[in-house]
Amino acid sequence: MHVVVVGAGIGGLAAAADLARQGVRVTVLERAAVAGGKMRHVQAGGAAIDGGPTVFTMRWIFSQLFADAGRRLEDALELHRAEILARHAWREGGRLDLFADVERSAEAIGDFAGAHDAQGFRDFAARSAEIFRTLQHSFIAAQRPSPLDLVRRVGRLDALWRTAPWATMWQALGTHFRDPRLRQLFGRYATYCGCSPFLAPATLMLVAHVEQDGVWLVQGGMRRVAEAIRDLAESQGATFRFNAEAREILVRGGRAAGVRLAGGEVLDADAVVFNGDVAALGQGLLGAAARGAARDTPREARSLSAVTWCMNAVTHGFPLSHHNVFFAEDYAAEFAAIFRARRITEAPTVYICAQDRGEEGGHAGVPYGTAERLLLLVNAPPDGDLADLSPDALEQLQHRSLALLQRCGLTIETSPANTTCTTPAGFHGLFPGTGGALYGRASHGATGTFARPGAASRLPGLFLAGGSVHPGPGIPMAAMSGRLAAARVLRALTPGGRSSRR
Ligand SMILES: Cc1cc2nc3c(=O)[nH]c(=O)nc-3n(C[C@H](O)[C@H](O)[C@H](O)COP(=O)(O)OP(=O)(O)OC[C@H]3O[C@@H](n4cnc5c(N)ncnc54)[C@H](O)[C@@H]3O)c2cc1C
Repeated sequence: MHVVVVGAGIGGLAAAADLARQGVRVTVLERAAVAGGKMRHVQAGGAAIDGGPTVFTMRWIFSQLFADAGRRLEDALELHRAEILARHAWREGGRLDLFADVERSAEAIGDFAGAHDAQGFRDFAARSAEIFRTLQHSFIAAQRPSPLDLVRRVGRLDALWRTAPWATMWQALGTHFRDPRLRQLFGRYATYCGCSPFLAPATLMLVAHVEQDGVWLVQGGMRRVAEAIRDLAESQGATFRFNAEAREILVRGGRAAGVRLAGGEVLDADAVVFNGDVAALGQGLLGAAARGAARDTPREARSLSAVTWCMNAVTHGFPLSHHNVFFAEDYAAEFAAIFRARRITEAPTVYICAQDRGEEGGHAGVPYGTAERLLLLVNAPPDGDLADLSPDALEQLQHRSLALLQRCGLTIETSPANTTCTTPAGFHGLFPGTGGALYGRASHGATGTFARPGAASRLPGLFLAGGSVHPGPGIPMAAMSGRLAAARVLRALTPGGRSSRR
């Protein structure tokens, strides 16, 4: 039995590891030179900087992946639990740390915004934990349900009702917090799924619990996660081919039967797992025969893109933690600009990962005057397939972003020599079919999340894994999707297993 996995993103890697350990011959084809996909290193100012995901959560998904292969995650990765989840600052004033310990956060919120919001936070933390518990096994760790399946799986309508899919996240946050800065802080969790908090269902509040349950700092940087899962897959017998782009998914007798590479080489397969964005399939980028396997994502349904700057630069004036968020005051304008006007707001929120800080689990500083590795990110519309930002627009955006940081007390000594920028068009080039959308389809509205395809595509023999597929984006969810895809492949290919059709 031979399975070709197209893409060595986290979903593809997890699928490869699971399939290989169960005796399947696996070949992973990756168009880039290394594994990891969005989890990638960017060179800037002579340093290799994590230019993709930086917040590592839901460790249990990775522990299970390794344990099922008879290995221990802690032997492959050195993980430190972050005590400070993130440090937040506002242009108009105020600074707030969120801690791993709920009560410590509640006290900090009490000092920041008063007793009402401290209690609001305790209630919010309990509510997000309850939503997570309701959906952990019924949705996140299970094959994609229809809304009706979900009702059956959860079994209790009242529990499902309390996940609040009918309300927006922003509305629900208003019932917990009076201080608009706190609504902003917790509303930002919607962006972890590429959504606007003004359009995402309140259900996404579960992200707060995911962070509360543990944000982990990875010794050696995030790319170690991809390397560790690649090593795991190889140890189980999977073969990797890099700089190997799949141009066409071959279809014979109505089934996916292999892959044609860019150089013309053909690999026959009993099944194919596609780990690119499903929109690429729907656009026919993997050939006309596979076009119907998944729907293209309409532009208005795409998730957020970003402009990122990787820098190796000296900073002054603000005690950066590992994860930092700098807010301007008008959050509604920021998301209206992106999702309606299709532009970046005048004063975007800036996320900074100060990667050399806190690797030992604390938030020790970098020696004064020394350059440090930074990832700066602002949200952007996913229109990188239409046009790139002009050098002028980019320069102005960087200027506005640095001005916001300066108002919050942070100065960064940037120069073209120490900075590498990636725009939505850059992300579109790296991740075909996306327009630069980094999280697949946005889960907006009560049923948006059900619009993501499940592991079995509409083409028998072709399976889907990654952040554009159920259960959704983010490193742990993409890993889970890879595991779900592997399970579907095995079920379809094992004698007596069911057809791969949904
Ligand atoms: C800037 C940024 C910040 C983020 N922050 C976080 C965060 O803090 N925490 C978090 O959990 N998540 C974060 N995410 C999201 C997270 O990175 C993704 O959801 C996850 O990594 C996606 O994994 P994936 O399995 O979908 O594969 P991808 O990473 O999308 O990789 C797909 C791979 O498939 C390859 N490929 C595609 N087509 C072909 C083809 N035809 N032939 C061969 N290879 C092909 C691509 O080259 C790529 O390597 C962030 C993403 C970005 C970009």
